[in-house]
Amino acid sequence: MARRIARAAPLAAKWRKFAEERCAEKGERLTPARLAVYAELLAHNQPLSAYELIAVLEQRQERKIAPLTVYRHLDFLMRTGLVHRLQSAHTYLPCDHPDHAHESQFLLCSSCGHVDEVESRGLETLLSQIADEHGFRPDNAVVEIRGLCGSCAVSAQT
Ligand SMILES: [Zn+2]
Ligand SMILES: [Zn+2]
Repeated sequence: MARRIARAAPLAAKWRKFAEERCAEKGERLTPARLAVYAELLAHNQPLSAYELIAVLEQRQERKIAPLTVYRHLDFLMRTGLVHRLQSAHTYLPCDHPDHAHESQFLLCSSCGHVDEVESRGLETLLSQIADEHGFRPDNAVVEIRGLCGSCAVSAQT
């Protein structure tokens, strides 16, 4: 009997459901390759750069993967709102709450690399007010705040 190779990282049912819903909404097809990229990002606690992602996918699938293919899958996942891109770090991370559309706000720890996705309606309102006052039409408003996460801040003090 041939040994079965795990082609994709395990994906919890709730994330698969989110993925199916977002794709159906956009009329996009959730292919196994797209799903594999999504599952891989979810399997990591930290955001991955495209090259880190390609490396782990190649290792898991035991074959070479064209970077362009992975970039296309990432574009797709961002389009559907399942994945966000951290502009300052050029890394990708799965959305924490893909059940609804939202602007992205992130707290990035410079010490351990942990990223918290937060959602503040108040901040979104404020940002659109500021844009309005300047007659500015924003395409996207990503807020990335760098610093120390709760546990790194505590250990920095001791
Ligand atoms: Zn999100
Ligand atoms: Zn930290």
